[in-house]
Amino acid sequence: MAQIIDGKQVSASVKQEVKDEAAKLREEKGLKVGLAVVIVGNNPASRVYVNNKKKACEAVGFQSFEYALDEATTQEQLLDLVNVLNRDDRVNGILVQLPLPKHIDEKTVINAISPEKDVDAFHPVNVGKIMIGEYAFLPCTPAGVMRLIASTGTEIAGKQCVVIGRSNIVGKPMAMLLLHESGTVTVCHSKTKNLKEICLGADILVVAVGRANFVTGDMIKEGAVVIDVGMNRLDDGRLCGDVEFESAEKKASYITPVPGGVGPMTIAMLMKNTLTAAKQQNGLA
Ligand code: NAP
Repeated sequence: MAQIIDGKQVSASVKQEVKDEAAKLREEKGLKVGLAVVIVGNNPASRVYVNNKKKACEAVGFQSFEYALDEATTQEQLLDLVNVLNRDDRVNGILVQLPLPKHIDEKTVINAISPEKDVDAFHPVNVGKIMIGEYAFLPCTPAGVMRLIASTGTEIAGKQCVVIGRSNIVGKPMAMLLLHESGTVTVCHSKTKNLKEICLGADILVVAVGRANFVTGDMIKEGAVVIDVGMNRLDDGRLCGDVEFESAEKKASYITPVPGGVGPMTIAMLMKNTLTAAKQQNGLA
């Protein structure tokens, strides 16, 4: 039976590290770390994420600046705000909550954020840095996964790592981070043949597909570390991962639950990136 990887506990320890360092920056350098969060429109899920980010800022002693813009905001108005925030010294990190309304081009907005303040690590400059292993910021969800794997004491070097999913925000950067740690990485997607066979070879299996219970126990090698990134809302309102937990935990050595696994890590890593940004902008990192 697998040991459960407690994402809440690991994320609490990341947030405590950030809080301690932020307090030190305030006391020793008079520096208060600030994160600006911009939300456009009334998407209820986005609203929840933005509130959680604000709460996390408070918990670690950051200032948060929230900009809740009307659904009818034009792209130009949003770009103007991003430019103001790029120049605002109180703001170390800028996060524009996605998705944006359809009349706004997300790429144009992401590209307008100063790479030094791009704490989501979505700007092409930061994506490129991840590729060559010279990261300023790690993309939050994959960085959270790396921290969860580390919490198990599992060595990645030389292991067969399989990532299911190749999105720009999860699958691709996840594969790069595992590769930088010398894992032998296979990336699977909707056109992959023999998925079950490939999964059965995985010592470390990271699943980011967005389909409830997609990976079942018969696809998991005995003793594998299984990380479930998926967050799927079932008809009855329950949150469910991409891995069928009951069958998978019989095969895995370690497994993340949903909720309480990867989810809490993403915000913790966002706080860490914002702290890194503040240090870099002030010549302290
Ligand atoms: P996405 O952009 O929709 O990407 C899904 C990936 O899964 C795609 O690469 C797709 O392949 C692949 N896929 C779909 N069907 C497949 C199949 N039958 N076999 C193999 N691969 C298949 O999703 P995402 O943004 O990466 O997110 C994935 C999941 O993680 C979602 O449930 C999301 O809610 C969750 N998530 C959680 C967090 C967190 O903080 N916990 C953060 C981000 C995302 P193709 O490229 O070929 O289409």
